[in-house]
Order: sequence, then C-alpha cells, then structure tokens
Amino acid sequence: MERDAIWVGTSWKMNKGPAASVAAANELARMSFPAAIQPFVIPPFTSLKDVCDRLSGSRVAVGAQNMHWQDEGAWTGEISPTMISECGAELVEIGHSERRTYFGETDHTVNLKVHAALRHGLRPLVCIGDTADEYSYSVTNETLARQLKVALHGVSEDDVPQVLIAYEPVWAIGASGRPADAAFVERTHNYLRKVLINIAGSSAGSAIKLLYGGSVTQDNAAGYVALPHVNGVFVGRAAWNVEHFQALAEGV
Ligand code: PEP
Repeated sequence: MERDAIWVGTSWKMNKGPAASVAAANELARMSFPAAIQPFVIPPFTSLKDVCDRLSGSRVAVGAQNMHWQDEGAWTGEISPTMISECGAELVEIGHSERRTYFGETDHTVNLKVHAALRHGLRPLVCIGDTADEYSYSVTNETLARQLKVALHGVSEDDVPQVLIAYEPVWAIGASGRPADAAFVERTHNYLRKVLINIAGSSAGSAIKLLYGGSVTQDNAAGYVALPHVNGVFVGRAAWNVEHFQALAEGV
C-alpha cells in the first residue's frame, strides 16, 4: 500500500453478491490508477476472500466492513480479525455511522476493534462523524474530538500512523445527505489534525491519513482533495460502479 498517496476508496456496503463482486474485482484488476492514488474497495464479507484473491498483486487494497475484536469464540454472526486477515484483506472499516446508529457500535467498541486490528496487522479505517443535531448545535468539534480520543486511546505512537480516519458527517452521507461545503471541511480537518497531534504527538499525529466522506462525486472529489489535511476521499454511491470509481480516482 502506498503510504504517501491520496486514498480513494469505496465500501460496497450491502450491495454486490459474490458474482457481482467477483465481476467488479476482475474489472478493477485490469484497470490502471494514477501512481499518486491508493485505491481501495471494501466488499461485503460474502465476497471478501474472492475479491482479495482477484486483487492480490494489483494496486487496489481491500478491506472488510466491520470486525469483532476477539480472535474467536461464541459470537454468533461475527467475523474475527484472524478471519479477515486470512482472507487477505489489509484494511478494516470500523465505526461507520450506520454501524453506530443501527447496530450498537460505541466509541468503546471502536477502540477495542482498533486495537484488535493493529494486533493482527490490519489497518483500521475509523469513521467518525457528527449527526445533523450535533452540527446544528455547533458541537461538531466536540463530538469528533471525543470519537477520535476514544478510538485511539492506548494506541502506541508507533501504531498510530497505521490508522486511517474518515470524517463522514452523518448529515452528508447517503441519499438524503448533502455534501459538506469545502470551507467547512477545511476548518474541520484542520481541527482534526490539531486533535491528532495533541493525542499522538507531532510526528505520528501528522502522519495519519484523514479522508473526507459524504456525498462525494466525480464533480466535487478534486475540490476536497485539494484542501490541506484532506488525504483522500471515502465514497459510497458515486463509486459503486467500477468505471465511475476509476473515473473519480483519476479526477482527483
Ligand atoms: C458513506 O455512507 O459512508 C458514504 C460516504 O456514502 P455516500 O458517498 O453515498 O454519501
């Protein structure tokens, strides 16, 4: 994986069964991406191994959409870090707002999962975000600082740069969302960088990749990536089609 690259990725969420995932992965494996871009895709668990196999040796990194923090045990329906790394994934998405809102993910479980991922050599992609209410009461920064501090609690300075953060305002993601304006993203990412430096020190805190996500499209992606402290974009709907994904990655 490219350390200094601009990260452009998408989670397929609960879309693409095994056949559609493999078809998409085969297409991605044939595609080229600009050298400055680190592309990544996050398929559903049912196709994680197949997608990892198809994309092994390609430029495209693969991640899982969630993970339990234990290595094994009586956790019906859960997937462990060892299973994910055995599939060949390099990344794991943790704390997406849909997991927090609908499936009881908390700052505490996010922290457990971050530690578990790092123990197993997986790079955690931690999603943080303010709700519409938090945004309207102007407590975005407080919310994000809390989420970041708990997510990274106890993570060593050596490990911190392995973590990727996606700032995804809950009010900006999905069909009912609206993209955050660039000036707001710039202010918020500047603030996040300060919090990260405060938590982890100047060197480790500056090394963490900070992605923006929320109604990113081919039209607005480059504008976000041009901002200071925006090291990439995490995209949903606009990147599920692999040709659109490639075009978006080429355009930033
Ligand atoms: C998301 O759900 O994480 C997301 C970024 O979605 P979208 O790009 O569709 O708003």
